[in-house]
This record gives sequence, structure tokens and C-alpha cells, in this order.
Amino acid sequence: MKKILLAAISVAFLSASHAQKTYIWCGTLIDGISNEPQKNMTIVVEKNKISAVENGFSKAGAEDKIIDLKTKTVTPGWIDMHVHVELETKKGNLADRFTSNPADIAFESLKYVRVTLMAGFTTVRDLGGSSVNISLRNAINKGSVVGPRIYTAGKSIATTGGHADPTNGYRKDLMGDPGPKEGVINGTEDAYHAVRERYKEGSDLIKITATGGVLSQAKDGANAQFTEEEIKAIVSAAKDYGFKVAAHAHGAEGIKRAIRGGVNSIEHGTFMDDEGIQLMKQYGTYLVPTITAGKATADSAKIPGYYTDIVTPKALATGPQIQATFAKAYKAGVKIAFGTDAGVYQHGKNWMEFGYMIEAGMPAMEALKAATIQAAELLGEKDKLGSIQAGKLADIIAVDGDPLKDPIVFGKVVFVMKDGVVYKQ
Ligand SMILES: [Zn+2]
Repeated sequence: MKKILLAAISVAFLSASHAQKTYIWCGTLIDGISNEPQKNMTIVVEKNKISAVENGFSKAGAEDKIIDLKTKTVTPGWIDMHVHVELETKKGNLADRFTSNPADIAFESLKYVRVTLMAGFTTVRDLGGSSVNISLRNAINKGSVVGPRIYTAGKSIATTGGHADPTNGYRKDLMGDPGPKEGVINGTEDAYHAVRERYKEGSDLIKITATGGVLSQAKDGANAQFTEEEIKAIVSAAKDYGFKVAAHAHGAEGIKRAIRGGVNSIEHGTFMDDEGIQLMKQYGTYLVPTITAGKATADSAKIPGYYTDIVTPKALATGPQIQATFAKAYKAGVKIAFGTDAGVYQHGKNWMEFGYMIEAGMPAMEALKAATIQAAELLGEKDKLGSIQAGKLADIIAVDGDPLKDPIVFGKVVFVMKDGVVYKQ
């Protein structure tokens, strides 16, 4: 008897806690799947998931909550596939890496993740930082910190002297000889070691710097920095742990080695040639363009003393090229996922990338899909993220206006729900 009573009580408790639903009335709904916006729709949210999408403005029960977005355009939460939540650009910041403790970095990053979420980005992929962003991801998942869902590469993997070698540009006696633990490899054995270190530290994916880069204190911003065998070893080790591999790459040769090596995405892709574009299509590799970062670094480079003398010419040569290469790759049919390199410019302005993609010839609806369903596919989370459909996580945002008509509207986010929790309304 006692047992039955207890069971009855717990069933009653469960059904009571399940009862409350949230009804989101959407004037216009872009669901991430359909190519046409839908008028007058209702999204039903239960706990952290979407339970139904209905025509018209559905009636809610007395227990339920209504969110009225009848005058807004509702879309899936946006996904930025290339951010750095631990840093933000500022003039002459080279000394920071000698003066900032991990806790200093962590406290600063709290501002960056908050502003990113409020800008409508409910998920981000962090492509290179320290153990800080692994802890930050965990704190956000626990609800201790307000920010987007983070998938992080942790420490990027480079070769000696390469773009993500952490002691690039140091005085000789401070350079040391960083190895796989610090994300520096030479040879295929090191490649395995470095991937396993990332697994041990709690990374979600792997990032390699396949070529030189703009902001490292090294001469060449585009040279190939891995052998194809090293990349193949990274990709093969990554597969053992269910990791995808993202490759930072500006130069044509490094891009091709990375594609043939089996990486999932090319980041930037700045000086990609026609052969590279064909290889991207053949291998189904994604391009994550980061046009915003290109434009912002080229602009900053014109301010005297903003970057060091070794960085300035690289920023001026690389930045302006990214948008043109994106336009060419998109036209050729390369798969595109939205990514901005936020941190290299101010966090929270990620939405500007939409305008640059549209300016380069991509229709606004496709740019939106690049930041939703396409990004979710590249993340390997298409069953959870990237569209407004029953069963997906309730990551839902709204803008004031029609983003398909005016790219400025992407900057007017008025509502943010992540995982069923409202953060902005
Ligand atoms: Zn980056």
C-alpha cells in the first residue's frame, strides 16, 4: 500500500513538472529547413526541447507560458563555427601573454561569452585557446555562467615555429621547446600524442594550423606548416576519439594538404586556388570563411602601432582577400558554414558576417542556413541543433525586422532562448 502511494505521488509530481509548456507565437518563422519563411506559427517548448511546431497561434493552457513574437522574425539560434572566447583584439596587446594569469583570462572571457549569446549566437565553436575555455564550457553547461553552448578545440595544434606554437616570437631563452602537450608536433607519433592530450584535457574537437597565420609573430602568413602525413596522422587519431578536425589555412598548398589529409573544415581559405576548390568539393570539406576577421584585421593594421611590424604587412595582404575567395568558392558549390574568428575583432559583432556573405553573392536565406543547419552538420550535432523542429533543443532567437531584406536586421536580436531558457526578451 505504502509503495503504491509513493508511486502515485511521484507520478503526480512528474506530470506537474512536465505540465508547463512555453508557446512562442511567431509572426514570421524561418525554421532552418524550409527555403520559405512561414507566417503566423507557434513553437511549443517543453523543458529544454521543442515539442511541436504548429500553424497559427496555438492556445495555451492555464499553466502554460506565452511568448508573443507576433511582430518579429524567429529563427533557430545562430552558430558561429570560429570564435576565440579567451581574447579580444586591442592595440599593442603582445605583452598580455606574459602578464595575464588564467584567472585574468577567465574573468575577461565572461564578458565575451555574454555579449555573444545576447547577439543571438546560442552555440559557438572555439578554435584555439587554453584550458580556460574548457572550464568555461563546463561552467556554462552547469548554468554558472551566461554564455553560448561551447564546443572547444582547447589548445590548437601546430608544428615548431608554426602559427599556434605558443612561444612564437619569444626571446630565445624563453622559447623553450614546446611539444605535443603544449600543442606542438613534429612527425606522426607526436601527432597522435597531441590529439590524445586534447582528449585528456577535455576538448571536443581538434584544430590544426595547417599554414602560417596573420597574428602570430612569424614572417610568413601562408606557408604550409604540416606534411600531409602529419595531417593524416592527426585526422586518424582524431577519429579514434570521435573528434572532427578544423584546419586554419591561408596558403594554397597547405589548404590542399589539409583537404587531402581528411580534415572536416578549412578555416579562412584565403589564397585557395582552383585546384583547392575542386578538392573541397570532391572531399566534401566545409569552408568557414571568417570574412569579418579579414576586414577587421586589415582595418586595424592601418592604425600605427596596433600590430607589431611583423604582423602588419600580413594583415594588409591577407584580410581583404578572404571575401573574394569566399565568393568564388560559394559560386563553385563548396559547402559553407558560418564562422567569424570573433576575438580577432570585437565579440558580439559576429552578425556582421551575414552582411559580408550576402555582399559576396550568397542569398540571405543561405547565409542563415550556413549559421544554423549547415553549422550543426559540421559540428556533428544535426540531430540536436540548427533548426526549429520537434525533438531539437530549444535554441530560438528573434530579430526585429526582415533579415532577408536588410542585413542590418541581423544586428537587431530582441529575443534569445537557449536550451529552453530565456536570456533576452
Ligand atoms: Zn581563429
